[in-house]
Amino acid sequence: MPNRICITPAEKELIDLIRKFGGFSKGDLVSYTDHSRTKITSSVNSLINKKIIIENQGSEYSGGRRSKTFSLNGSLGCVAGVDIGATGIDLAVADLSQRTLVRASEDVPVREGPVKILRKACDILENLLHETVYDPEKILGIGIGIPGPVDFINGTVVSPPIMPGWDRYPIIQTVQKHFPAANVVIDNDVNVMALGEINQGVGKGVNNLIFVKIGIGIGAGIICQGKIYRGANGCAGDIGHISINNNGPLCHCGNNGCLEALAGGPAIVERSLTAAKSGKSAILQKYFEKNGGKLTAEDVGDAAREGDPASIEIIRECGQMVGNVLASLVNFYNPDMIVIGGGVSNLGNLLLSSIRQAVLSRSLPLATRNLDIVFSGIGEDAGVIGAAQLAMDYVFTVEQSISSGERFKVEER
Ligand SMILES: [Zn+2]
Repeated sequence: MPNRICITPAEKELIDLIRKFGGFSKGDLVSYTDHSRTKITSSVNSLINKKIIIENQGSEYSGGRRSKTFSLNGSLGCVAGVDIGATGIDLAVADLSQRTLVRASEDVPVREGPVKILRKACDILENLLHETVYDPEKILGIGIGIPGPVDFINGTVVSPPIMPGWDRYPIIQTVQKHFPAANVVIDNDVNVMALGEINQGVGKGVNNLIFVKIGIGIGAGIICQGKIYRGANGCAGDIGHISINNNGPLCHCGNNGCLEALAGGPAIVERSLTAAKSGKSAILQKYFEKNGGKLTAEDVGDAAREGDPASIEIIRECGQMVGNVLASLVNFYNPDMIVIGGGVSNLGNLLLSSIRQAVLSRSLPLATRNLDIVFSGIGEDAGVIGAAQLAMDYVFTVEQSISSGERFKVEER
């Protein structure tokens, strides 16, 4: 049976706030909740007795008085984040104070199948844990980001386009066999990246945020009131398959003119190849010859920085298409922040300014009044940081009292 730490609903509320903002004083906790100082003091004392939080050595001055601040107790245990990507896996172990202790990466394509990839991930994780003070058998949680559609309620991957052999594979059970004490949770990689951004990236503390990953595919992770919004079946945010041109190119999903088919990495490369071969861009042609007949989205970014008009046009149009879809989302959802991440975001500021321009010109003024549109602050680390945060979400079990003091455990999912 996986380990879980039992807490009350009031304690959970404080833990969530401490996780969201880092250290917190009692005064802060009173102002962020509806509870009296007496109730906060009682919950804080209980959490200290359970060794879940600790009083910080330093102190904050508030109104001329020194006030104690509290953080999660790192030494209580550890969790791991595993980010499975199309071409490699990233892993990290963090303590319960959310401090990353050790990290590792390995190039191994996801198409090699779940048996090989999961065995490799478990072996690397075990080695990483041996580098820490924590016993691998006592790891509390493992969060895993997957580059495909995840049925979150049932904990399975469903018909992933780039992951042969993974459809409904028992990922959670396989990893749990290796680490029986851990709560293992899987989610879509973009959701996990969004979690990474609100916990340790540019979106730290932001309540309503859309994280957009532009890579081979295009997807979005939606944070609503500080939590991932997954929808009824777990596939909310799949914006790559919003149709923007009914007569556009065929997408791998079977429809025509999806955003992903027009503005994803392969579409950018396709357009750059046409510009190189047709003689429209001398700079892309130079890269094409230098790379032995290949081009990447990164080459398009470099050519644009050299002032290549064809590359600038490709990036502008890509940003505009993404921005037009995001404008509809802004009108619909009114987020505080949009964070752009993924490999194609390396195209640079021209991409960001094109996205911004499209969003601002097509959204309602009230919806964009306080809207920030920014690049990811933690880049490629967003996935692994978010996966560890996902694991943290399931370390604590909320006990709720029912009649005559009888207690039962409430699973959060
Ligand atoms: Zn599609």
